Amino acid sequence: MVGKPLDTGSSREYSPNHARTGLLVIREMIETAIGADIGGTNTKLVLVDPLGDVRLREMVPTPRGEDPEAMLDEIGVAIVRFRARAKASGYTVVGTGLATPQFTDGPDWIQRHANNMPALEGYPIRAQLVEAIGGPLALLYDSGGAAIAEKVFGRGRDVSRLLTMSIGTGISIGVVTEHGFVDYNWGGTGDSGQIIVDPDAIERCPCGGRGCLESVAAAPAIRRAGIEAIARGEETSLAEKHAVHGDIEAADVVAAAASGDPAAIRIMRQAGRFIGIALASYVHLFRPELIALCGGVAQAGDLLLEPIRLTVADLVSPWYLERLVGIEMSAFPLDGAAIGCAALVFRPELVPAARP
Ligand SMILES: [Zn+2]
Repeated sequence: MVGKPLDTGSSREYSPNHARTGLLVIREMIETAIGADIGGTNTKLVLVDPLGDVRLREMVPTPRGEDPEAMLDEIGVAIVRFRARAKASGYTVVGTGLATPQFTDGPDWIQRHANNMPALEGYPIRAQLVEAIGGPLALLYDSGGAAIAEKVFGRGRDVSRLLTMSIGTGISIGVVTEHGFVDYNWGGTGDSGQIIVDPDAIERCPCGGRGCLESVAAAPAIRRAGIEAIARGEETSLAEKHAVHGDIEAADVVAAAASGDPAAIRIMRQAGRFIGIALASYVHLFRPELIALCGGVAQAGDLLLEPIRLTVADLVSPWYLERLVGIEMSAFPLDGAAIGCAALVFRPELVPAARP
């Protein structure tokens, strides 16, 4: 890692004979920003330089409980501790960008649809975080952060219209066009996981709607489809997994599909089909040149990409299809939200409302 500062253009004063102090001098010349992706389970912390290289990484459990003040205090402490670690390693930290899995309303950063962190529902988080962490502080919806990372540092650098889709416990998109980040729902490009792709779905989505993309193609739906396949007595390696562990995860279905399990492959194809249907609509809405996929479920790679590409090719108007260069895996499969929110410290013009 210590070799990395040489690539930053700040290496003028470096000579190979420099001892550790020499490297620290160079690091102090490099401005870095902290990105914190506050997820429902874990909080990912990254220290990012202006070229998008991650200099330090850390993961801490996201505090739980019913007291929003205590929760924010604990998040603040973790970030301040990480910043101290960065400074001790010789880096200059110029600001912090936060990603949250819920929407943020207004200048006080009131949290909306905080399904994964119910303690924060309706709670204004800005003042307390500014006090705990200090500024400059930026904040964005997590899938927006992933889109910013892809645009600034990833595969979207050379395209003028980019759409990223985060597929994990939930599903959502982020869009960046030549005019900047498309923000028309409290920091998100819509509540895009709730687009309807299966009007015949029987079960209700946790959002209260029915047939939403998220309810039929995100990790919980993949896990559920695996359990249903076992219950139907389908021949699948998932049955053995379930017998041993008493449960299965979406990741088990992905792994089984990768090893050729027919039931698991069918489940992934079905999920890919639904995602493709949603993307077909998003292509017509946003006219992206590139679509990049990230998140835990997207780690299925070609198992998911293949049905998605086939579905999009089948459904989308040729005019839009000709202008869609590709549907690819993200350059930042799992920590784009944290990296992108750190990038907002360097590139505030991309999301003026995030106020670094
Ligand atoms: Zn829904």
